Amino acid sequence: MPHAEPLSPARPSVPLLQKPVVRNVWPFVVGALAILVGLVLSNVLPGYFVYLAISAVIAAIAIMGLGVVTGSAGMIALCQLTFAAIGAWMVALMNIWHAPGGFVVWLVLGALVAGVAGILVGLPALRLRGVNLAVVTLGFAAAADVTLVQIQFPGSADAISIDRPAMFSNDKKFFFLSIIVLVVCGLIVFFLQRSRWGASWKAVAFSERGTAAAGQSVQAAKLTAFAVSAALGGVAGGLLAGQVQLPFAASFTPLQSLALYVLAIMSGAHLIDMAVFGGILWVLVPELLKRWHIPQDWGFVIFGVLGVQALTSGTSLGQGIRNLIWKRQDRRTAGAALTALPADAGDEAEEIRTTTTATLDPALLTGEPVLSVEHLTVEFGALKALDDVSFTVPEASIMGLIGPNGAGKSTFVDAISGFLPKHGGRVLLGGRDLVGLSPTRRARLGLRRTFQQDRVPPLLTVGAYLRFVARRRLSATDIEETLAFFGCPPARARLSSVDVGTRRLVEVAAAVLAGPRLLILDEPAAGLSHDEHLALAARLRELPERYGVALIIIEHDLDLVRSVCPMLTVLNFGTVLATGPQDEVLANPDVIKAYMGETELLS
Ligand code: ADP
Ligand code: MG
Repeated sequence: MPHAEPLSPARPSVPLLQKPVVRNVWPFVVGALAILVGLVLSNVLPGYFVYLAISAVIAAIAIMGLGVVTGSAGMIALCQLTFAAIGAWMVALMNIWHAPGGFVVWLVLGALVAGVAGILVGLPALRLRGVNLAVVTLGFAAAADVTLVQIQFPGSADAISIDRPAMFSNDKKFFFLSIIVLVVCGLIVFFLQRSRWGASWKAVAFSERGTAAAGQSVQAAKLTAFAVSAALGGVAGGLLAGQVQLPFAASFTPLQSLALYVLAIMSGAHLIDMAVFGGILWVLVPELLKRWHIPQDWGFVIFGVLGVQALTSGTSLGQGIRNLIWKRQDRRTAGAALTALPADAGDEAEEIRTTTTATLDPALLTGEPVLSVEHLTVEFGALKALDDVSFTVPEASIMGLIGPNGAGKSTFVDAISGFLPKHGGRVLLGGRDLVGLSPTRRARLGLRRTFQQDRVPPLLTVGAYLRFVARRRLSATDIEETLAFFGCPPARARLSSVDVGTRRLVEVAAAVLAGPRLLILDEPAAGLSHDEHLALAARLRELPERYGVALIIIEHDLDLVRSVCPMLTVLNFGTVLATGPQDEVLANPDVIKAYMGETELLS
């Protein structure tokens, strides 16, 4: 029988990654072009429009910040202009002190102080979510507003105007400076979005549990998002101080922060070009209203309506435009790899049915335990979801964890991976006691898990997700080989365009690339077709040898369990019915009794 060898890493694969050099150069090209456009505009625009354009640039930087905390990290922050006020206040203070360095240095200082304030405001976000977080941030904005009205900006009582840099003293030149600042901020955000931080923001927005299970601290993800966002707010405020030269509290009210937030949602501000678009709207709408002799406060109403539209349709304007562009590409990139899987699966299906555990290395049954579970007990109120569960998993082995619905399998995974800290008993990973360690710590120690529900953040590309979960340097070859091995879409495909079943394969691939000692898969085949199911089984069987990882596989399909798992543990009503080598467990009278009717098991 000709075997298609779909699992061989040597299989020639489509070039999956663009050359990194090209990827890293084009943002600078775009930035240089933007500076050029700014230079031209600053020379041709009439004075009044130059002033408006500065305002648009400032708003764009503030919105870019909101794009980080709200667009990427999914948290509501209604105090962006308070951070701007902090930036402006610092610039004003440095100005009256005649602090060394001049305006640009003061701007950076303002950003840093605003960033620290962002971390402080972000602390409640570690506990609060949604409306509660919105209330806290709005409350902070209101308190800061009252304070600012009281204390005013340094020097404003004496009308000491803020010194612009000598090179950028008039409005036209200051506009050019603001464009340069915008480009620098845009580049920083662009590379941060593609860094580990950026991936952690998008991950935490989608699932905190998924984030922690990837070995990423949820707290760090949220606080860095707040810090970066607030720092950008601070830059915006500092620039505003330079623009108006006599800043007033009225420029930083909570109502304006609210409107800016709505604009950020509406424009889809985690995309940098859309933040710029939002900045333009911020200036354009009130300006048009003014020309049409409509009170400018109606601008808030317009932003509000557009924001409601974006929230109810679930798609921002920017994301809508991007989707139109991306859809075509994704169909092209995702297509090739996915179709390869079922086509190969026919032969494998045959192979799996005829394979028994006899072909598995007997050493896998007797190796040193990588996981020891001792008297694990979990109670949900009166319900004992796990009752005195004890068993061990040998190094680089595969343990099947089976049992009917509600037997406690997912509860077991949660307890082992640190999501249910209040359990009785002990859990040891390679002899190390895990009790008291957070999910993040356990993941970093080499205990990885996947989830029964989809926890793969859709905003990332496959490659970015792999790098995020793996937490180590991966070569393009590592990534290509592993993706090909699992039959996943190429690295540049967006996860949002990948179907849920395939996303689960990507989840497994990423967890494996982390190089864990133990990987727990909670129903990894859910959502896969029968053929894909069999192909996955064949791949799972190879994992211990290929990657040196031990597996615990939770699975309903007994065919798959039998062909893949040399070791079995059967849970029933939270207790261990049997554990050990597969043939012994399947011959156990208690197991046979519990599985009565599952004649297949007895065959
Ligand atoms: P399995 O994954 O084997 O289907 P689970 O571990 O999900 O089973 O559930 C085991 C038992 O614990 C079930 O009776 C379930 O209803 C209960 N359970 C699970 N999670 C909770 C929870 N957070 N609160 C209360 N009961 C729970
Ligand atoms: Mg379950």
